[in-house]
Amino acid sequence: MTRLTLLGTGGGRFATVTQERATGGIYLEDGVSLHIDPGPGSLVMMRRAKLDPMRTDGILVSHCHPDHYTDAEVLLEAMTNGTHTRRGYLAASRSVLEGTGTIGPAISAYHKAAVDEVTMVEPGDEIDIGHVKVLATPADHSDPTTVGFRIGTTNGEIGYVPDTSLHRDVIEANKGVRVLIVPLTRPLRARIDHHLCTEDAAVLVEEVQPEVAVLNHLGLKILREDPRMQADWITKKSGVETILGEDLMRIRMAERIGIRGPGEGRGHSKRGRRGGGGGSGKDKHHDEQGSPPDCTE
Ligand SMILES: [Zn+2]
Repeated sequence: MTRLTLLGTGGGRFATVTQERATGGIYLEDGVSLHIDPGPGSLVMMRRAKLDPMRTDGILVSHCHPDHYTDAEVLLEAMTNGTHTRRGYLAASRSVLEGTGTIGPAISAYHKAAVDEVTMVEPGDEIDIGHVKVLATPADHSDPTTVGFRIGTTNGEIGYVPDTSLHRDVIEANKGVRVLIVPLTRPLRARIDHHLCTEDAAVLVEEVQPEVAVLNHLGLKILREDPRMQADWITKKSGVETILGEDLMRIRMAERIGIRGPGEGRGHSKRGRRGGGGGSGKDKHHDEQGSPPDCTE
C-alpha cells in the first residue's frame, strides 16, 4: 500500500500563526514511512491521524522556514527512540542542516548525531530509503538552498513541490509523476515573489500532467477567499483533476488513486470526481471572517 496523509495544508506565515489550517507536513507510508516538512503541530496531527512517530524511517525537510521544520527535532527524537537508538534518515537542504545567510540551521548537532544517515541534498541528488527513491528537485525560493522531492514508491512517483516561484526547472523536474503536491500560497490575481499563485499553479499542473494534483500550503488569503474555486479554476484551465487538500485527507495510490477526505467513510477513485473540490465543505467558515491582514506570505 502507498498512502499519503496530509498532516497540514496551511502554509505561509499568517496561515501558520493563526492555524486556520494545520501545518504538520505530509506523511508517506509505503513499507517505509517518511515525514516531509514537519512544521508546527506535526506531533499533534500525527496523534489525530493515528500515526506513530516512533515508526518513522526518514524525515525530509525542503527548506529552513518555520512552517516546514519546527517539529523536526522532536520527531527525530521519536524516530531514534529518544536518541537512544541510532537509526533512520534525515535529508534536508543546506540551510536546514548547516544554515545559510541569516537563517538556520534548524537541527542541532545533537539531533543529527542520533540519526543513522544525514544527507544534505541539492537538486539532482538521490538517496534510497529502503526501496523508496528520493530525488532532490530544484526550486526558486527566498531560501536559495530549497529543494523539492520526487519520491519513487511501489505505486509510482510523487512530486512534492516545495515553496517556489513558477520556474521551468521545477516543471521539468516533476514531469511523469502520478501525484503532484502543489504549494498554492496565493489565490488568483495575488501573485507574490517566491511562491505560486493560482495562475502559476495552473501552468505547472498543465505542463506536468500528473494523474491528480493536490493543493497544499494554502495561504491565509486563499483560505479567506474561496479555496475550492481556486481548485476548480486550475482543473478547468489545466484539464487535470486538481483536489483542494484538507487536513487529514488521505491519498491512496494503487492502480487507481483514491482520495478520502477527513471523516469520509470510504474512498473514491479520482476518475469518478473531476472538478476539483475535496470533501466536506468545511471551508465555509473562512468566508465569514473578513479580510486577511495586508501581508505577504
Ligand atoms: Zn518558504
